[in-house]
Amino acid sequence: MNREDFRQMMKVINNYLKSEEELESFYEINFDPDKKTIPVTTIATPSSCKVQLAFKVYFGAKFQSNEKMLLGTKLHEGLIEIIKNHWEEITENTSKLENINPEFEKPLEYSLENGWTLVGRADMVLGDEIYEFKFKDTKGYDKFDSSDSDFGTQVAVEQLNAYLHIYDDAKIGFIWTFNIDDFGNPGKHKQMKPKVVYKNEKMFEETIQKANIVISIIEKLKNGKLPENDILQERLRLKKAKKLWMCKSCHFLAICKYVEKKNML
Ligand code: SF4
Repeated sequence: MNREDFRQMMKVINNYLKSEEELESFYEINFDPDKKTIPVTTIATPSSCKVQLAFKVYFGAKFQSNEKMLLGTKLHEGLIEIIKNHWEEITENTSKLENINPEFEKPLEYSLENGWTLVGRADMVLGDEIYEFKFKDTKGYDKFDSSDSDFGTQVAVEQLNAYLHIYDDAKIGFIWTFNIDDFGNPGKHKQMKPKVVYKNEKMFEETIQKANIVISIIEKLKNGKLPENDILQERLRLKKAKKLWMCKSCHFLAICKYVEKKNML
């Protein structure tokens, strides 16, 4: 199915959406039928719907960023630049870092089934340590690492755990989380929450299993078929888990409703 076919299909089921303009505002589509890479950042989302992940990867769909997300991206780039440009200063009185050459945005790859590759970029690698930087608004910052069930924490941990397994030399990881809202207030002390992440073999196996299920769904789409059974199964699973609320805000709900309706006829 190419991008035009996708648009046609969405037009047919567009009665579930308010207007085509709304569809345009949902997506930035970078469709590449030959693409065989899955980003760690897409797959490392605990309990997410596999069909949603498959649609995201297959259509290269990016959702529009709000102002805070854009600011977070800029601050993220800025932090890396600061560490890079001031490395000598930073290491001047730190014997532990003396002979370590930092690597920034280190590309990482892991081979999956059928020629697919799991790809990611670790923010900073210092010897056998990997660092990830996160920028969150006050709500996300306060919730981060406050409980095992915080979604933002789970996502960040699963992502870093994948990097720790993909990069053979890695032993331990650190997530540094900053509060974006502090940066709009020059006089305010910038808060940062550090979190240590240890390698978790079982979690990585689950990440890989999830990636392989997502690949199997994408392969169906590549063969021009809607993954109807997967959609029906995921809808049922979410319903049983009382998580249908996830579907309400999902950009692909129109497709799943279309499949459900078709199978009820
Ligand atoms: S609407 Fe629900 S079942 Fe369909 S892709 Fe989205 S989250 Fe998954």
